[in-house]
Amino acid sequence: MDDVIKAKGEGADKTLLSAADNAQEAGTKLYAQIDGNRQEVLALARTAVVGGPNLKPGGFSTLPPYLLEELSRRNPANSDFLKTYNKTKEMQEKGVMFRPRLSGDNDSSREVYDAKGKEEQPGERARFEGEKPSGNKEVDQAYDYTGVVREFYKKEFGRNSIDGNGMKFVSTVNYGDNYENAFWDGKQMTYGRPGEDSPFKTFVLLDVCGHEITHGVTEKESDMKYYGQSGALNESMSDVFGELIDQYAHKQTANQADWVVGNGIWKDGIKGRGLRDMLNPGTAYDDPKLGKDPQPAHMKDYWTGWGDNGGVHYNSGIPNRAFALFAKSVGGYAFDDPGHIWFAARKAAGNNPSFSQFAYHTIEQAKALGHADEVEKLQKAWEAVGVTPSKTTLDTRTPQPNLPDDGRRTFKKAG
Ligand SMILES: [Zn+2]
Repeated sequence: MDDVIKAKGEGADKTLLSAADNAQEAGTKLYAQIDGNRQEVLALARTAVVGGPNLKPGGFSTLPPYLLEELSRRNPANSDFLKTYNKTKEMQEKGVMFRPRLSGDNDSSREVYDAKGKEEQPGERARFEGEKPSGNKEVDQAYDYTGVVREFYKKEFGRNSIDGNGMKFVSTVNYGDNYENAFWDGKQMTYGRPGEDSPFKTFVLLDVCGHEITHGVTEKESDMKYYGQSGALNESMSDVFGELIDQYAHKQTANQADWVVGNGIWKDGIKGRGLRDMLNPGTAYDDPKLGKDPQPAHMKDYWTGWGDNGGVHYNSGIPNRAFALFAKSVGGYAFDDPGHIWFAARKAAGNNPSFSQFAYHTIEQAKALGHADEVEKLQKAWEAVGVTPSKTTLDTRTPQPNLPDDGRRTFKKAG
């Protein structure tokens, strides 16, 4: 028997917490009504309550919440960052649902729309599969980039689109004037149009497109829980494959690549190379307008706060660096052996792996794929970031949300 829970207002958190406990004990699934939609969000019982719908990956955005908060704090005259922060949060609380399959939704074709500064999806039809360039830069870039993502997954992994089943690649560009973010919401890619005072030049970038769409692939492959180390691995998967797609497009080997996520995102004058640096986490930017890149590069600097779903955009720096180090030590194209090992390990590690467990599965998958000779390099890469591969070691570093009154549970959208 599956239960549907309706809860709102004062006490909603506790209602959900005890319902989640009961569901766990009874081994049933738990659903919540969110915006009129029935969504399975709380099967993970107690831990699910803290993140609410966020734990069922709740919409993925390019900019982590801490960066929008920092931008808002440092640039009080510009309200766009706070506005976008709130809207991003709202989107995440709604939760992702893969678009229901439509007829004809199996040809993996591209559709690009132009929202022309309005906050509307999908917006005006701009360029569909096979049509000539539109002459609109953002439209044509979104078209080309989704084409590269599609080709990469097809050629390198034999995968037919995001869901493995030919789902269309739908993109909206110029979403919202001064909308300072880009996101994947389970249905499509959406790129905001940064404002004049924004440090962002554009969000329409190949690795951003690859990062966001890979969240869709991850959801289908293993649905890694978006909290703590599992969530940081979900983020890291998107950074890894976003970068692999970039390296594939530019035919760069692991040693030629710059390993910077979001290269080209900043306007001139901003002191930064991108959003994140996979090889040297914590060094991507340092500017008075933005603050400093806060990513740790090693377990000794592990971020243990509650925010950002238990640090999913912080601690992803640790597995990111392990991948970059491993790929460089193997040499050649990182999307060959290293990419295939990571792709297989994601599924093998299941939906709630710790860093140690994921590392264990990369080693197992390296052997399974016939790359036993690369195991030593893998072990060295994990050692360099302070992660000990283990089949059974759980995530004990992230605060576990098991106290009923810590004031951090919100479930505003329920009801
Ligand atoms: Zn992401």
